[in-house]
This record gives sequence, structure tokens and C-alpha cells, in this order.
Amino acid sequence: MSQTAQILERGKKTVIGNYARVPIVMARGEGSALWDTDGKEYIDLFAGFGGCVLGHCHPALIAAAREQSHTLWHVGNTYWTEPQIEFAERLSKFAFTGQAFFCHSGLEANEAAVKLARLRGGAQAKKKWKVVSFNQSFHGRSLAMIAATGNPQVKAGFEPAVPGFTQVDLGDLEGLTAAVDDETAAVIVEPIQGEGGIHPVPIEFAIELRKMCDARQITLIFDEVWTGCGRTGKWFGFQHFVDAFGKIVQPDIVTMGKAVGAGLPVGVMFAKPELAALLVPGKHGCTLGGNPICMNVAKTIFDVIERERLLDHATALGEHAIARLRKESKIAHKIAEIRGRGLFLGIDLKSAPEKFLDRALAHGIIANLTAKTVVRLAPPINISKEQWDKGLDGVIATIAEV
Ligand code: PMP
Repeated sequence: MSQTAQILERGKKTVIGNYARVPIVMARGEGSALWDTDGKEYIDLFAGFGGCVLGHCHPALIAAAREQSHTLWHVGNTYWTEPQIEFAERLSKFAFTGQAFFCHSGLEANEAAVKLARLRGGAQAKKKWKVVSFNQSFHGRSLAMIAATGNPQVKAGFEPAVPGFTQVDLGDLEGLTAAVDDETAAVIVEPIQGEGGIHPVPIEFAIELRKMCDARQITLIFDEVWTGCGRTGKWFGFQHFVDAFGKIVQPDIVTMGKAVGAGLPVGVMFAKPELAALLVPGKHGCTLGGNPICMNVAKTIFDVIERERLLDHATALGEHAIARLRKESKIAHKIAEIRGRGLFLGIDLKSAPEKFLDRALAHGIIANLTAKTVVRLAPPINISKEQWDKGLDGVIATIAEV
């Protein structure tokens, strides 16, 4: 039996089968390249569901982890540690002036955000506790976050649902107005719906959403688990929402996961100071949240993106890909629409492809299929132009085949 077959057999015995895994064991990564245990090389156009925003084994991140791991490993949040503060300072610089709560994942960041919105809402004359989100959204797998998620498949089997969560269509202002009442504490929205198939929030809708939340004292939460940390060509997805006066539509809370740890488990709930002040001792916590090694890496991600001008790079490569895919005659008849910003792209096919993943892997491409018909590309944002073009060759060849 081959080494790979042996590992697969051991894995199937001991690891729960809750993921649809392909029979490949990844062994090594460097930049935007991966190698499996059989030595086959792949171009990574999905970055581990967006985690590896700077690719695999970035030297600056290795150095940050190594340096911190020789200094202070973990102490718990009874004490202050400087890497947390240095990281939070960068969030205030690149998002808005705010304060951070650290956890390990996107769902935890969203849970913290909803809890904070309820603290705010609970203190108002009419107690506010409900949350409105959107159809086709994804906010995580806890019982509350599956209630917030606008996908019936994610909820199925876990009923009864946590009360207080409703969904409306993205962009449907009338539906939103009807869904909101005096007990609504928060609206949570992804600037670009990721799992739902790369659906950007229309700018006009974001502007109206902000106005409505201000008028009704509702907390606006932007779930930037996918779109944060430069993926869309801006530091945060909401920075694409610019009104007629050039003002950016800011949320009250932004949540992060995935890229904010560059593949390490980091989640952040980042709130405006007046809101953050409500989270007093005893209200929320996370034992390993803000671990110094993770924080030193997270801080460094922002430094690398700034130093290497990766926002511009992501914007340029995204525009290049859209232009290339649109004029590719081999696949034009199969494409319904291409959506996305920066290096967060969705190629919506006219019909659901068969065995997309397997065929892409055969071409040495790691990509993803979501919402049945949407080929999703989210490579490391520091992928080289050459690798990106080579990857796109593989994507085009795959789509032509399926
Ligand atoms: N929010 C969004 C927008 C997501 O896409 C995801 C995961 N795909 C989550 C939250 C949950 O993140 P995690 O898996 O880190 O809990």
C-alpha cells in the first residue's frame, strides 16, 4: 500500500468524516504552491478557504512566530501582553478607531458581535435583541450563527432554531424595512457574500443600511471573515462602500477570521469604542484568544501587506483575471456572470459542473465550487502574476471540460 493510501486509511478510522475530503494528503507548501505526499504540485487558488492570505510559510510570518515562540508562549487574559496591543493598533489604523476582542475563529467573532449588540440593545428603553441577516449569507456553525446564516442546508437537523434571527434578500430595502422592528438589535452582513456565491452588497444598499441603523439605533455588523485583510484590494470590504460625498460607510462592528491569522486560528471582533465599552469583565471571554504567537503573526500580516503594496497587487490581478476570463472564447458559452473584487472572484456557470474539484486537481489547480454553480477563486494575495496566469490557464481548461 502506498504511503498516501496508508495515511488515508488511518485518517478515515480516527478523524470524523464531516468534511467532503478528496483523497489527497497535502505535505508541503511554499508561497502559492502546494505539494502532496505523492510529490504532485498544485497552484493554490483558494488559500485554505481564505486563511493563507500571504501564502504558505511566508518568511516574515515564520520569523514573527519563531521570535514570539522563544519569548512568551501564553499567559491568559488576566495580564496584558504587547503583541495584542500592537495588532489592535494596526486595526485602528486600517479599519477605524476601535477596540478589539480576540478569539480563534470567524464564528466566535460573530457571536461576540451579536452579544455586544444585545448588550447595547438591552440597555435601550424597548429591549432590543433580534438580529436581521440575509439570504445566502454564511456566519458560522454555532447554534446562533446557523440561525443567522441564510442557507437552509446549514440549519437542517439542528432544530429548534435559536430564536430572534430572520433573513431577507440582499439588496431588498423594502424587505429589510419590513423585517426590522422595535426589538431589532443588529443587522449582520458580509460586504461580499462568500459561501453564497460571491455576491457583493450594492453600494447604494450599504448606504441605506447605515442610515436605517443610525435612525433606529441598530448595531450594524460587517462580517469581514472572508473580505477582511486585503482580500478585495482594500484593507476591509466595507472600504468599497463610498457615498456621493466620498465618505466610507462604516459599520459599528467588524468581525474577522480566516486571513487575519494567515492560516493560524485568529478571530477578531472589532468595535467602535463607545460600543466596546459595554463589554465589561465577566461579559465575554476566550481562554486562548489573543495568544502572543498568533498576535505577533497577525500584526506582521498587516505590515507585510503594507510594505509589499499587496492591496494594489490584489486589485490589479483581480482586474486582469476578470478581463481574461471574459474574453476567453473557450468558456464564454458556459459563463453566466463573473463577480467579485480584488482576489475574491466568482465565476458563475450556467449549469452545475460535474466533478469540478477532481478535474481542477488533475490540472494541478486548487479552486472551489460553491452555491452549486460558482467557481470561487481566492488565492494568496501575494501570488505572482506568472503563477496567477498559470492558475487561470488551469481554471479555464477545467471549466472547458466540465
Ligand atoms: N463568516 C463568514 C463570512 C464565513 O465565510 C465563515 C466561514 N466560511 C465564517 C463566518 C465562519 O468562520 P469560521 O469557520 O472561522 O468559524
